[in-house]
Amino acid sequence: MTETATELAFDHLLRGPSRQEVGGGTVTFGPDGITAVETGGSGPPVGQVVLPALCNAHDHGRGMRTTAFGAGDDALEVWLTRLGLEPKVDPYLRAAVAFARMAQGGIGIMNHCHNTQDPDALMDEARAVARAARDVGVRVAFAVPLMGHNPITYGDPAPLLKAVGPEAAARIKARKIMPFADQLAIAEDIFALESPHFMPQYGPVGPQWVDDATLATVADRSASLGRRVHMHLLETESQRQWADAAYPGGLVSHLDGLGLLSERLTVAHGVWLTPDECALLAERGVMVSVNTSSNLRLRSGIAPVAAYIKAGLRFGMGMDGMSFDDDEDALRELRLLWTLQRGFGVHDVLDRDRLWQAVVADGRAAILGPDDGGRIAPGAPSDVLALRTDRMMADVVPGRASAEDLILARATKADVAGLWIHGRKIVTDGACLGIDLPALEAEMLAQARSAAEAAPADLDEVARIEAAYRDYYRTGCHCHPAPGPAGAETTP
Ligand SMILES: [Zn+2]
Repeated sequence: MTETATELAFDHLLRGPSRQEVGGGTVTFGPDGITAVETGGSGPPVGQVVLPALCNAHDHGRGMRTTAFGAGDDALEVWLTRLGLEPKVDPYLRAAVAFARMAQGGIGIMNHCHNTQDPDALMDEARAVARAARDVGVRVAFAVPLMGHNPITYGDPAPLLKAVGPEAAARIKARKIMPFADQLAIAEDIFALESPHFMPQYGPVGPQWVDDATLATVADRSASLGRRVHMHLLETESQRQWADAAYPGGLVSHLDGLGLLSERLTVAHGVWLTPDECALLAERGVMVSVNTSSNLRLRSGIAPVAAYIKAGLRFGMGMDGMSFDDDEDALRELRLLWTLQRGFGVHDVLDRDRLWQAVVADGRAAILGPDDGGRIAPGAPSDVLALRTDRMMADVVPGRASAEDLILARATKADVAGLWIHGRKIVTDGACLGIDLPALEAEMLAQARSAAEAAPADLDEVARIEAAYRDYYRTGCHCHPAPGPAGAETTP
């Protein structure tokens, strides 16, 4: 054993998609991977289950939770009007707090769709996110935001601007949008920051927010440079309605025509995908992130996982910064995904193998691309999670309860005993080792409160704008395209 090797004992092993090994044993690993897995041991119980590190296939890495700064859960198009209330804080704190909280819940590999707090400072923000990923010790796929098309509404913004009145309309129209060419240039600079903890990707935010020329450029560069792409797709009913109006031949086949659909693309949400669209995405090797809690909290719906499985469309689990109890608990997210999608009665839709495949293997590939990870086996990457079983098993009858049953029914972040990424221990007994999370949380909250005090929001105007957006989408205005190039009137 080398000096940096870890030997971890377990009573139960979840190897990954191939499931549970009954009986104790040990797994040995170092920075370069898992070197040995011994099973069939007969020693005394150690109170531990070992499994591959969990993956979060879609997130935004905001330290401040949205409900805390005034963006209460509601339909996405309404909620987005309040997302701008997020107080500006140090981008390092924002990312480090988010990453550390996720790591405490067992997530070691994550997508980060960056929402910039200051478009002019995107490069500095990316450097801060890279530093936060390294300090916490997680592996972060940083999706560089590309957006600006349809900046106000999916359809013609005129009814919305009329409804909010001239002053608010002027403020909405004055929001600064960087030309796509400049955004692509910054993306290239961010790709140069790549490290084992920070893996940049193209992040066209959604088809409604990016023009075709930019999507085609992203598709070309992705193909020629082998870079991954991460994009929201058909998250809400309003987006579905907009897509059907704007692309009568089909949005997904339109994206295919641009060359965007490939095994390097991950799409987030996919709540409103049709079976035919699932089949096309599956044929192209596209991955989906299923964000169950977010889809419930933002009133988007329940992802058609049965249609994904039927089409052979691969998917991972995402939290989207909107976990069910607002606590970044991936194990509870796992439970919600399982109970909502396994099928009702005796109709099996999602089985356990496929669940673990989504959570530790396909979710991982959706973030990193194929890398042979997501399993506890010699030669696999040393990204390992250990759960302690004392709390989960406190009331069980010896020899009866299955560790897997208990994880699916009971496990929460309170049971995380340790998380190792690249063989380095980054969480122990629920605490992050690389940073002082409570101190960073306190500093972030102090900065957020003073930023909010220094620049008070006009909450009456926010409420008026929110009501106007609700009416706009409720009455179907988004199904009428803007005259001329969408959003051109507000692009400098
Ligand atoms: Zn998202």
